[in-house]
Amino acid sequence: MSSLTEKDRPIVQLLLSTGTCPRCVLRFCCVGSQLLYRHPHQDLMKDLQEFLKNSQEKEDTVCLDAADPPCKRIRLEHSREEGADDLNLNGAVPQLPSAGRGNTAMESSAGKVCNVCLGILQEFCEADFVKKVCQKVNSADYQFTSFVFSVSLPPQLSVRESLFEVSVVFAHPETDEECHFLATACPDCFKPAKNKQSVFTRMAVIKALERIKEEDFLKHFPCPPSSPKNLCDALEIQCNNGAVFVAGRYNKYSRNLPQTPWIIDGERKLESSVEELISEHLMAEFKADSFNFSSSGREDVDVRTLGNGRPFAMELVNPHRIHFTAEEMKRLQQAINDSSDKIQVRDLQLVTREAIGRMKEGEEEKTKTYSALIWTDKEIQREDIAFLDDIKELKLDQKTPLRVLHRRPLAVRCRLIHTMKSEYIDEHHFRLHLKTQAGTYIKEFVHGDFGRTKPNIGSLLNRTADILELDVESVDVDWPPTLAD
Ligand SMILES: [Zn+2]
Repeated sequence: MSSLTEKDRPIVQLLLSTGTCPRCVLRFCCVGSQLLYRHPHQDLMKDLQEFLKNSQEKEDTVCLDAADPPCKRIRLEHSREEGADDLNLNGAVPQLPSAGRGNTAMESSAGKVCNVCLGILQEFCEADFVKKVCQKVNSADYQFTSFVFSVSLPPQLSVRESLFEVSVVFAHPETDEECHFLATACPDCFKPAKNKQSVFTRMAVIKALERIKEEDFLKHFPCPPSSPKNLCDALEIQCNNGAVFVAGRYNKYSRNLPQTPWIIDGERKLESSVEELISEHLMAEFKADSFNFSSSGREDVDVRTLGNGRPFAMELVNPHRIHFTAEEMKRLQQAINDSSDKIQVRDLQLVTREAIGRMKEGEEEKTKTYSALIWTDKEIQREDIAFLDDIKELKLDQKTPLRVLHRRPLAVRCRLIHTMKSEYIDEHHFRLHLKTQAGTYIKEFVHGDFGRTKPNIGSLLNRTADILELDVESVDVDWPPTLAD
């Protein structure tokens, strides 16, 4: 007997209020017995609402009882007595709504389409729809002795429900070669494919069976089939969990650390990377198979990222562990921060796949703040650089820098330097604080990149300028949300 207990109450309440249908509510409350699911969903809805009311009053367990048998079973049955291949509905659910309810009426009693099953477990699991299917089959007027009932669900259902999937792969070596005659009869169906071990895929076999003539088939294959000696092998029992996503912000304090592993022709150039310093901890805690790292822009290996840090996100593929409390995430963040003085992570949190889009959207429009240590060949005085502070919204034409030309297409991009603030150090050095449009190449704006960035600090000061150090002071993307310490 299936029952809902007091611990299910908040789940039922939350799901019903967000528009989840009664059968999905039962699924999420881990009700395993089929009996309850066979009730008309309007009745289930009433029962669940009743359950919420009652459980407020009663202390202990409240049972949502299934009616005693005879159960309200919907059965598709081949009726022999009537001779024709009619499908009958035995013991269909009574109190059917009146006929003529088309697709427009595919709503729950609460007037909502289920936000999880998209209505498949609502009207489509009622006797009414089963009747419709039966009528369709009957009117198609086929003769048959058995049938397969198959249901294809829209793929987005998998997105709405992060599924833990268990799959069992069967094989039967003894009869493996029984498909082979099909290749001679229907060679077109069996084309070798790169990533397939055998040409005898399920799809190819089904296609060939559709094409082969009955008499050819009977020539090659005994009917009834021979009795095999061995059972099928359960080759593999695989588990797969839906990906989980973690986001945060990182600071990089090293001028000798790339963002992602720096490997050229299989040879590692630097021993670590921001990505590796963060991912090794996440991979170990989530026990995932692999990961994908992404961030809001990136910095060069010799550029530090200070301030609030740079937003990043990591997809953990097939994680074994998926539930982490805020406290556990905080400890995980601490473990990352304790393990290296080259990076620091903040606001580490679990996010949804959809939320990651927010990090990438409008990236070009965002502003970034930098601090650059600049060297000039000719001596400078304070008054030589003071005018930079008055320049606002300076338009640049930037040709793709020489240093990235091997991986970026050649183009001239228009970028804005919103504001600048200079800080005199000595006759050959000053610091420049810049607020710029995202995507501006700062190093090139300083030295000019052989005239490929116009104007540039060198041309503005009328001397040769070079950049000695660059820091990202802030990346103005308000995602992920800031967490309290
Ligand atoms: Zn549903």
